[in-house]
Amino acid sequence: MRIVLLGAPGAGKGSQAKSLSERYNVPHISTGDIFRALKPDSELGQLFAQYASKGQLVPDEVVLRIVKERLDQDDCKNGFILDGFPRTIPQAEAFEREIGSDVALNFDVDNSILMDRLTGRWTCKECGVPYHKSTMGDITKCTRCGGELYQRKDDTAETVANRLKVYDEQTKPLIDFYAKQGTLKNLDAAKSISEVYEKIVQILDNL
Ligand code: AMP
Repeated sequence: MRIVLLGAPGAGKGSQAKSLSERYNVPHISTGDIFRALKPDSELGQLFAQYASKGQLVPDEVVLRIVKERLDQDDCKNGFILDGFPRTIPQAEAFEREIGSDVALNFDVDNSILMDRLTGRWTCKECGVPYHKSTMGDITKCTRCGGELYQRKDDTAETVANRLKVYDEQTKPLIDFYAKQGTLKNLDAAKSISEVYEKIVQILDNL
């Protein structure tokens, strides 16, 4: 199953991707995670930091090259879950032309909810699971894997505002793109993680 997760930053794509990857036995591929794993002093690492620190998107040709390399690996033969890609119309066009997806799940949430989710987000350095400062109490380690929790550099109020603007301008048009392709499924992602998960499973099991 080749799954694309669409939605603004903080909509819950990463959390769902982790559970779905286990259930359907396909890899979770997050372009943001790939970029964050780069050595900060490498050429690509520096390029990424330059864009991400302002909440901007890395140029399409760079992202496309990285995604194609990753999807060429053996573990993607039976499918994949793409989280954070495609993010622009040219990315979607190139990806659908050369590789293709079976379904695009759109995580729909209001920007006001996203602002709070992202600026209050603490993330596990090891497994990427997100926490929220309002519910995590005084824990400093991930309850799932013991990894250290940290606040992403681009989860500050100013950068988040720009990421949401970039989403509205460059990524939101993908909803229409996938609707026209006939593979779009909309989700009310303001609901709880477990409710959204149930809904996704229902959709995917009926494909
Ligand atoms: P994310 O973890 O998905 O929020 O991504 C963090 C940052 O990585 C983004 O703000 C972009 O700078 C960059 N990035 C991740 N995926 C893409 C993409 N598909 N196209 C362009 N830039 C991306």
